[in-house]
Amino acid sequence: MALPVTSVLWKDYVDDRAVQESDFEVSTSEIDPANLQDGEVLVELLYLSVDPYLRGRMRRMKSYYFIGPFESVKPLASGGIGLVKASKAAGFAAGDVVSGMLPWSSLAVLDQAAQGMLQKLEPSLLGSAPLSYFLGTLGMPGMTAWASIKKIAEPIKQGEVAFVSGAAGAVGLVAGQLLKNVYGCRVIGSAGSDDKVALLKQLGFDEAFNYKRVDTAAALKAAAPDGIDIYFDNVGGPTLETVLDQARSHARIVACGMISQYDLPDEQKYGVKNLFNLITKRIKLEGFIVSDYMAELGAEFGATMAEHVQQGKVKALEHTTEGIENAGKAFVEMMAGGNTGKAVVKVAAEDPFPVKQ
Ligand code: NDP
Repeated sequence: MALPVTSVLWKDYVDDRAVQESDFEVSTSEIDPANLQDGEVLVELLYLSVDPYLRGRMRRMKSYYFIGPFESVKPLASGGIGLVKASKAAGFAAGDVVSGMLPWSSLAVLDQAAQGMLQKLEPSLLGSAPLSYFLGTLGMPGMTAWASIKKIAEPIKQGEVAFVSGAAGAVGLVAGQLLKNVYGCRVIGSAGSDDKVALLKQLGFDEAFNYKRVDTAAALKAAAPDGIDIYFDNVGGPTLETVLDQARSHARIVACGMISQYDLPDEQKYGVKNLFNLITKRIKLEGFIVSDYMAELGAEFGATMAEHVQQGKVKALEHTTEGIENAGKAFVEMMAGGNTGKAVVKVAAEDPFPVKQ
């Protein structure tokens, strides 16, 4: 019997403005599981991740992360958690839970190339945490924070001053909590609303400020009069320039993201003017792409972060949007700062593996 499918399609490049809900199209179709061919897998989407890096796949770029732009007019794809409903492919069986790159479709037939972008979630992990955590704190954003600090900011001395921008988001929250609760830094966070600032303080950040309401240079000077040792940069632009001025000698800057620049055409992107600070202060500024470290550090990350979450050193926060048809809206809201913690879309009505008490 044919099953109904809802998909979200990408319309066309957006190069010079913020993406809007009208740039996405919701479509319906059907899949008959009886038509599954040899080598194919039928996957039901349970949770979907909306992430800033997808913005790059929605525009013309000189250099993409690891995969090119979305095709018009086809389903988008991003990190997701799915349940295998039927399989005629080696390595997958009905009932397996998979994570990885999944199309924005409530149900999808995946060929071998698409299967190559998936991993099976270890059965022992099912019920250990909400499945959506594997898209956030226990997944790619958590790994980004953990591995980039390890690779770029270490060695870290207890009491060093760390500043995290985008601090109330998926990566920023993990980065700030790790720097505070695992490394013993004095942590300053910036975020785009007073509610987010209050939350950061509640979570133990020593200082936090709303970059939309106060001057970043003045706020940092007040919070860290002797300067910044570690900057976890999620936003780029003028904030990076300010930190270069206020960094201490031998500061480390994790260049993780530059979200303040993602909607701008190339010629309007912010030109940081004070890079000479890198030399005079011997600052290390290093870019990072999480996928480079999955093979080397993925297993260690999974075990370590699960422990941090269990011990309360890292609290996992999520912002959930219900329904695949609202995935475009979820993306637009996330880019505009509507999320606190990891922005996820709950696609299936029920989590088939609720957390074991
Ligand atoms: P978030 O959960 O932090 O969501 C995005 C947030 O960005 C929004 O909530 C908003 O928060 C903030 N934002 C939006 N526009 C601006 C702006 N103009 N200036 C400052 N802040 C803005 O997303 P993630 O945690 O998933 O990603 C955070 C960063 O990390 C991004 O830059 C992303 O590209 C990068 N990243 C890099 C990876 C890598 O491997 N290098 C991997 C994963 C993410 P607010 O209310 O505070 O404005």
